[in-house]
Amino acid sequence: MIKFLDLKAVTAMHADEISAAVQRVVNGGWYLQGNENKAFTEEYARYIGTRYCVGCGNGLDALTLILRAYKEMGRLHDGDEVIVPANTYIATILAITENNLTPVLVEPRIDTFQIDDNLIERTITSRTRAIMIVHLYGQCAYTEQIREISHNHNLLLIEDNAQAHGCRYNDRLTGSLGNAAAHSFYPGKNLGALGDGGAVTTDDEELANMIGALGNYGSERKYVFNYKGRNSRLDEIQAAVLRVKLKYLDTDNALRRSIAMQYIEHIDNPLLTLPSIEYCQHSVHHIFPVLCSERDRLQQHLLNQGIQTMIHYPIPPHRQQCYADMGSLLSLPITERIHREELSLPLNPTLQQEEIEQIIKAVNSFK
Ligand SMILES: *Cc1c(COP(=O)(O)O)cnc(C)c1O
Repeated sequence: MIKFLDLKAVTAMHADEISAAVQRVVNGGWYLQGNENKAFTEEYARYIGTRYCVGCGNGLDALTLILRAYKEMGRLHDGDEVIVPANTYIATILAITENNLTPVLVEPRIDTFQIDDNLIERTITSRTRAIMIVHLYGQCAYTEQIREISHNHNLLLIEDNAQAHGCRYNDRLTGSLGNAAAHSFYPGKNLGALGDGGAVTTDDEELANMIGALGNYGSERKYVFNYKGRNSRLDEIQAAVLRVKLKYLDTDNALRRSIAMQYIEHIDNPLLTLPSIEYCQHSVHHIFPVLCSERDRLQQHLLNQGIQTMIHYPIPPHRQQCYADMGSLLSLPITERIHREELSLPLNPTLQQEEIEQIIKAVNSFK
């Protein structure tokens, strides 16, 4: 069986270094807010190309804390509208509604799966305060047009970089393109920990300090609480593991790209629509999405050949029970088509050449 993602194999790629890092923390006796956190956040800020990086508990917290911090800073208020792609993972939208802000869902482009920048401007109202772009599947969502729109309408530009660690936009990296960016280090992401972890990157010192305080019970000084904060911290073991894995992120992403290139070169089944070469050159391939009008039959066919695939995602946010209040009014045909037709092929740095060839063959034999 070719697993969609074998986390044991992912960890095994750097097993000795990871074990040594964990041991260092275990033996050091300091488990939170210590040297590993300080070192990782400095290294990650340098990698992404921002002045600040603040660690937190997970990617959802990173998104939530950015919005919460802007509320404390007076840049966002209850009921303000935040523009967001309709086909994102639910966490992006949860962060918005948890802060009493209103998500405004915008359709993606079918060829890139990213928010359609031509549709953004018409959704702007007097209550719009922010655009939250999501570099979904590892593809850059940022465009020059999005920069212009956010600048011209004085909107905050926030990046959800949970799926795109190491993704380039010209000579910069995603996570450094807007006012602030949220990162997740969930084990399955391109840069994954051995448990939960997250971070915010930004050039804004006031925002970085506010997020640090809000994630530490609202405290800047021990036992003095200026804000009603929460507890959201990146622990020392995860930070130590991430320091090891960050060193290999670019090589891992290059491996992912070479597999994606083999897929687009050798998969020629007319029943499938594959990402373009252009797309593949600009992605870090967290997910390799194909579209097929008979998606469920294709998934079963591959499973019969011993290949596990996934769907990202089976139900769009506006069709979820928890958002029943907004879903019934919305017509989002492209989003719904993606959720009906998308299938993710296995693509990760641990795939062996025989496995890649087996996947290509199995996909091509689907009739
Ligand atoms: C994984 C993910 C998140 C949430 O990250 P967690 O660390 O699991 O909380 C947010 N947004 C996107 C797009 C994600 O893929």
